[in-house]
Amino acid sequence: MKRLAARPENRHQAQILSLLRDEGAMSRAELGDVIGLSRTKVALEVDRLTALGLTENAGPAVSRGGRRSTLVRLAQDMRFLGIDIGATSVDVALVDGELRILSHVSQACDVRSGPRAVLDTVVALAGKLRADAGVPDVYAAAVGLPGPVSFKDGAPVVPPLMPGWHHVPIRDLLSQELGCPVTVDNDVNIMAMGERQTGAARGAEDFLFIKIGTGIGCGIVLGGRVHRGVSGSAGDIGHIRVEDYGPACACGRTGCLEAFFSGAALARDATLAAKASRSTHLADLLSANGRLSAIDVGLAAAAGDPVAVELVREGGRRVGQVIAGLVSFCNPALVVIGGGVAGLGHALLAEIRGVVYRRSLPLATENLPIVLSELGATAGVVGAGRLASEIVFVAPG
Ligand SMILES: [Zn+2]
Repeated sequence: MKRLAARPENRHQAQILSLLRDEGAMSRAELGDVIGLSRTKVALEVDRLTALGLTENAGPAVSRGGRRSTLVRLAQDMRFLGIDIGATSVDVALVDGELRILSHVSQACDVRSGPRAVLDTVVALAGKLRADAGVPDVYAAAVGLPGPVSFKDGAPVVPPLMPGWHHVPIRDLLSQELGCPVTVDNDVNIMAMGERQTGAARGAEDFLFIKIGTGIGCGIVLGGRVHRGVSGSAGDIGHIRVEDYGPACACGRTGCLEAFFSGAALARDATLAAKASRSTHLADLLSANGRLSAIDVGLAAAAGDPVAVELVREGGRRVGQVIAGLVSFCNPALVVIGGGVAGLGHALLAEIRGVVYRRSLPLATENLPIVLSELGATAGVVGAGRLASEIVFVAPG
């Protein structure tokens, strides 16, 4: 228990830990080169980290001439919890120091059932993962929520999809119940960092991650860091007004992007089309399943159903318009599309690409890949694992 309170003692030790997380095992010589420290000084800092139980020896390094160097890696028993609370599901994963997923559970859970019920589910799933792995304690945990989060307060603020969650101190409650330090962020931000860690945006310094799920959000990564804005609501693009009139949005306004195109909007439009007998394919799916989801629209579109194809096109066009504006605004190196509706795949991607390439200036788009998420459903827990590691890998003060 005492060892889990171990923290780096200075900036160089924190840098060494972050490097070992992102690059895996390194020799002392390589660490010295990257950080700009002498071999003697690196050896001293690594010895301290090993004494603290944060790093360990990983055998001899390939010789670069001269004295043989040894490889250093993060302590192999280091564990973090990555938690991703979505609108309709909860994912919890146990990851090691290098953010490899060791075990992962996903459970259906409606965020509208309120914070108490959802946190009970999170704590139960985390307890089960830790018991199964024989790991009673973790260094830290981080959690993503599907709504605006005040990062410094660790609490959601007027989240449209989450009635009853406003200002509930999620960070402090979970920290108490999990017995470790906790950070809370918006789910799109943690997914963006997950893609940067091991997915489609690996190593990218400036990129946008667009999540199209029940709602729509954008993770903005600039200079390798999430840009959260002054109160934490940066990237909340789902409520950008794209028309003066339109369907009612969960936020209470009309004309919002996500009221036109999102998982919820697709399900609504597909159901209307099925009931009005405009699509026999969707009508068949509705009578077979009793309800329609974005996945059904994807299936129908893939089967060539013209109504479903048009829904995907129209949605891609609207999202593409907003992304084109964002590209002009911040000139990213890459745009990654993720979230459940990204399962609509290449038809959606083609539409978004077409609009963005047509509408943004050539200088901003000539080397701009627009790609689908590589991590899919695990982007959130990997990114949350990274955020949890940042609680630990910081210099004091
Ligand atoms: Zn809205």
